[in-house]
Amino acid sequence: MEIVDVKQFVTLLDGSRSYAWQTIPAVDALKLAEPRLRCPECKGAVGLFRGTTDEATANRAEHKKKNPGCSLGDCFDGVKRLAISPIEPDEKSINEQQSDN
Ligand SMILES: [Zn+2]
Repeated sequence: MEIVDVKQFVTLLDGSRSYAWQTIPAVDALKLAEPRLRCPECKGAVGLFRGTTDEATANRAEHKKKNPGCSLGDCFDGVKRLAISPIEPDEKSINEQQSDN
C-alpha cells in the first residue's frame, strides 16, 4: 500500500495541536524516526519497506499479518473487515497534509 497512518503531533484546522493518527504517504513515513504505524483502513499493524534503487519495487508499507478484509492489501476478498488485532480502532485518522515534519 502507498499510504499509512502514523501517530504524531499535528496542527488541526482550528489551530489546536493534537497527538493523533494521520494518514500520510508511505514515502513520507519512511523519513520519520521510528513512527507508530497502522493501516489506514483495517487498523492492523504495518511495516515500511524501502524500494530498490532501480525502482523495480517502490517504497511501500505492508501488513505485518495479511488481512483478506482490507482493500489496501494484496489478498482482499471483497468484504472489508478490521484487522484481528486493530491498533486504536476507535481513534479516527486525520486526513490532511499539515504536519510539523
Ligand atoms: Zn489494512
